[in-house]
Amino acid sequence: MVTPSSQQSHRHRRRRRPLCVVALTVVLWLGATAPATGLPLSAYKLPAGYLEDHAVDKAIAYLRKFGYIEDEENSIVMGRAITNFQYMADIAQTGRLDDVTLRKMEEPRCGVKDSFLQEDGAAIAAKVQYRSNRRSRIKSAKLRQGLGAGFFSRWWFKCDFTWNVINGHDKRSRDVTRTLVRRALSQWSNAINRGRRSPIFTFREEPDRNDTDLRFSYEKGKHGDSNAFDGPQGVLAHAFFPYISGDFEGQLHIDGDEDWQGSSSVGQLLYYVIMHEIGHIFGLTHSNKESSVMYGYLGFERSSIRHLRHEDIKRIRAHYPYRFCDIYAKRHSSLLDSNYKKTQRATPAPGTKH
Ligand SMILES: [Zn+2]
Ligand SMILES: [Zn+2]
Repeated sequence: MVTPSSQQSHRHRRRRRPLCVVALTVVLWLGATAPATGLPLSAYKLPAGYLEDHAVDKAIAYLRKFGYIEDEENSIVMGRAITNFQYMADIAQTGRLDDVTLRKMEEPRCGVKDSFLQEDGAAIAAKVQYRSNRRSRIKSAKLRQGLGAGFFSRWWFKCDFTWNVINGHDKRSRDVTRTLVRRALSQWSNAINRGRRSPIFTFREEPDRNDTDLRFSYEKGKHGDSNAFDGPQGVLAHAFFPYISGDFEGQLHIDGDEDWQGSSSVGQLLYYVIMHEIGHIFGLTHSNKESSVMYGYLGFERSSIRHLRHEDIKRIRAHYPYRFCDIYAKRHSSLLDSNYKKTQRATPAPGTKH
């Protein structure tokens, strides 16, 4: 999708400039946004090291990695990117690389790009208001789920999903992970199915199969999906959206280089991380509300969160007001079967081997 940022950067597409020029650009941009009083930069209480090349370079790399800068950075793109990041991180939108912002970039987080919310969630939410009548509700759900491209996706023709934890981790066994996955899945299915005549999401574990609808695995470094893990800390896990992820649809990867043993701070976060990532598998983007389980930052204090929050439940229920498997499957099961078979993958997905 094209955002104002990407249009800007396409116009200015060229080879990456040397680091000193980038740093100078940020300095100039700061000057442009600071009050016109003629004060020196030091008067704005910038954190130590702010103007050092490595700090600026690190921030640029971060903003690029998580979807805030697409191509070439310049002062306008940087200012917008920093403000967008601050919006998503639920911190003061100063538009500057201040101390709070730089510290937020050091926090452990989910590897899913935040730009999905700006492009998908916010943009669509602006166009599609939640309406009380049924026809509008269904239309808005179709738009939110990007059904233009994925109308015949298997997600619409299945209510009963199979799942499997493909492997374990040396610090956290496959069995422990299975228990946590089962618990996290029930959080989401309860939220979606509550109050319906029949459930539209049910889950069945198939522990001996590698081709289940949902697949959970520990992966290290480069692991075949162009989203290489970064070693300890930083990104802890990532998952793939339905409709737009091709063969990776339904997969959740946990960074195998983290210390996942039960007594470690990262280890205690495992259940929460799995619960968060499953939200992506069902199509939810990051929330900018710190109180939501879909908030993209995985601070260790969040390990005490055992249940979905109000906002998560509201969003997932709005996402699935109905599904084809619910409404049409009983009446047109043979037609749906043939459509579903056409959309099934012929080859197993990469990155899911033992
Ligand atoms: Zn996430
Ligand atoms: Zn991965």
